[in-house]
Amino acid sequence: MINFTVGPVQSSASVRTIGAEQVPYFRTAEFSELMKENEILIKKFAKATDDSRAVFLTCSGSGGMETAVMNTLTSSDKAIVVNGGSFGTRFVELLKLHEIPFVEIKLDLGKALKSEHLAPFERQGYTAFLVNKLETSTGAHYDIDLISQFCKRNGVFLIVDCVSTFLADSFNMAEQEVDVMITGSQKALACPPGVSVMCLSPRAIERVNSTKCICQYFDLKIALKNQERGQTPWTPAVNILRQINARLKEIDSNGGVEAEIMRTATLANYFRERIKELPFEIVSDSLSNAVTPLHPITIGAYDIFLKMKDEYGMWVCPNGGS
Ligand SMILES: *Cc1c(COP(=O)(O)O)cnc(C)c1O
Repeated sequence: MINFTVGPVQSSASVRTIGAEQVPYFRTAEFSELMKENEILIKKFAKATDDSRAVFLTCSGSGGMETAVMNTLTSSDKAIVVNGGSFGTRFVELLKLHEIPFVEIKLDLGKALKSEHLAPFERQGYTAFLVNKLETSTGAHYDIDLISQFCKRNGVFLIVDCVSTFLADSFNMAEQEVDVMITGSQKALACPPGVSVMCLSPRAIERVNSTKCICQYFDLKIALKNQERGQTPWTPAVNILRQINARLKEIDSNGGVEAEIMRTATLANYFRERIKELPFEIVSDSLSNAVTPLHPITIGAYDIFLKMKDEYGMWVCPNGGS
């Protein structure tokens, strides 16, 4: 089978080999070294400042989203959340659950975020902004520079879900002054699902330290303290962290994050060129390299999904709903 979905995706041979290996004991100097190297490479590829930190949680990307909300926001915040699909809705539900006051910028499915959407929120005392850089459910890829400038002007704390776009599209945590970057192991990181990676700016670390997290397992104070010595507070998904290490080093030795983004862009452009004559319309007006969101004109998406799976041995995502 060939996996063309947004995640899990195809993994390299070295990543797959590690998956078959015996899981080592991890309270060792060797595993600590590997985890410190993981932190350095994630910060490098996210273009984070030296005084930023990265932590690795054993959960999928959604666990990282909830961890960000629980550890950096409180009921005294006034948050803005972009909701252009099911991942935006997930942030909305998390803010409701954790009783963080918020307003929602609801976008039509697949539509870009524009400056006129942000204009009503200038100088209104908002304190936090949450966005899924790539709203994977529709393929809408939001302009982080636009959001970043709004946040800089207004002194707003910026949380960016990069789960499906990290390593596939350009991103600069330091320049764009992003405070929390969230990603997951099974999208462009191309490892099995099970680990969420978070990169935190100094401002985010300050918030973590002054926020009471009502959850022990996902308390970032404990995770940050342990990662100082290359460890996690609880037994992590050891082999996935070893696979992430192999993958990050592979990217590093193959020209780094820019080369990896170019490689994905080349694949995306090739695919989009080759399907031009087929009866599909591309549904997003702001594309990422990670996803080509197609609406089939002559046949149902689910029928295509089944046919590709059963007759061609390929998986694609038949996104349901509207
Ligand atoms: C995949 C994804 C997530 C995380 O989903 P999980 O199923 O929890 O891994 C979060 N946000 C976006 C934008 C995603 O594409």
